[in-house]
Amino acid sequence: MNMMRRAVIDPEKCDGAQICEPMGICPAQAIEREDGFTYVNTECKGCGKCVRMCPKQAIKVV
Ligand code: SF4
Repeated sequence: MNMMRRAVIDPEKCDGAQICEPMGICPAQAIEREDGFTYVNTECKGCGKCVRMCPKQAIKVV
């Protein structure tokens, strides 16, 4: 069972910006975009660095 905390992106808050600061600072390259939709992949370590970088407050670690 995997009890690790992970970042999740609220699709209603995320604007799918091309310049995504959380994507740039993630040490695990865990934030990806596909077809204009930004998501967190399984490489996320739950460090939380992305949370405060998101200008839309769209990310939280759960
Ligand atoms: S919590 Fe850390 S590892 Fe996970 S997506 Fe955010 S910056 Fe990357």
